[in-house]
Amino acid sequence: MTLVDLRSDTLTRPTPGMRAAMAAAEVGDDVYGEDPSVNRLEEQAAELFGHEAAVFVPSGTMGNQICLRLVVPPAHELVCDADAHVVTYEHGGAAQHGGIQSRTVPGGRMDADGVAPYLRPEGWGTVVTTAVSVEQTHNRAGGIVHSVAALEGLRALTRASGIALHCDGARIWNAAVASGTDLRTYGALFDTLSVCLSKGLGAPVGSLVVTDAARAAEARVLRKRLGGGMRQAGVLAAAGSYALEHQLERLAEDHRRAARIGERLGVPGVETNIVAVELAGTRWDGPTLAVAARDEGVLISVVGPTRARLVTHLDVDDAGAQRAADVVGRLLDAGPTG
Ligand SMILES: *Cc1c(COP(=O)(O)O)cnc(C)c1O
Repeated sequence: MTLVDLRSDTLTRPTPGMRAAMAAAEVGDDVYGEDPSVNRLEEQAAELFGHEAAVFVPSGTMGNQICLRLVVPPAHELVCDADAHVVTYEHGGAAQHGGIQSRTVPGGRMDADGVAPYLRPEGWGTVVTTAVSVEQTHNRAGGIVHSVAALEGLRALTRASGIALHCDGARIWNAAVASGTDLRTYGALFDTLSVCLSKGLGAPVGSLVVTDAARAAEARVLRKRLGGGMRQAGVLAAAGSYALEHQLERLAEDHRRAARIGERLGVPGVETNIVAVELAGTRWDGPTLAVAARDEGVLISVVGPTRARLVTHLDVDDAGAQRAADVVGRLLDAGPTG
């Protein structure tokens, strides 16, 4: 039985075109700043977001860790969503590596009114907030897109408070394609962004820190300190450039397929490539449903006791999406047996 894998959008195989670009990549030593393919990718990314600079890093987690340290000194506070990747899936890295305290706002979708009461300005004898982090799209909230209006509100609030705004933009490409927003519009709203090439864009490895020149210089030091300085990284950077040039617009197909799966499963509000299935109130729990789906060749992820997730990506075509919708839909309709 062939498996259709919707556990994550990190599982894509390099496409033949990407493989060819990797094989042909010119390389040098990036620790010396001499890898032409890395330099090209960093220039491309900076240009796309309208920032001065970008720094190629091995993972989105390292990208976030570096960005957070650029904007939050040790023993100061970051405000982010309670379900954000930076406080859920980074194994306490902000706390351990950056000495950063995080204050979390419940709700998933962030806006200025929701965030304002959580900011702690200097002068009240409290720990001081120095940055807000927004996840675009928000994974655990079901791949939702923060609107430009909401982000502008957060930008105005953080500017008025004299603090930074960071974007965990692992899937910012999905947000841009789904909402028809230019990447430069997003870029202009944030002081720092961490964006992933290895999710829906389909590169095997790599993320970028996007920011101003001074912070980028500091980011290079932090990257080295974390062990993220890479040598002939151009082989990987070439995959990233290829992804930006050839595999960005096609994200709309992933969104179309996810919407169709959402319809079949009765999941409302699918905005991008993530279908989050809430199982509370059904007779299923996450692990049991995942095993039952696997038995029929469909891999889904379990992201909580009563929560499953399906993600569409390069390796899931129309037939695969249809099969996932049929299998999981039928299981949900029938309930667990025995
Ligand atoms: C995947 C992801 C990251 C980074 O993950 P890595 O596996 O470290 O590259 C960061 N934020 C979000 C929202 C993600 O989904």
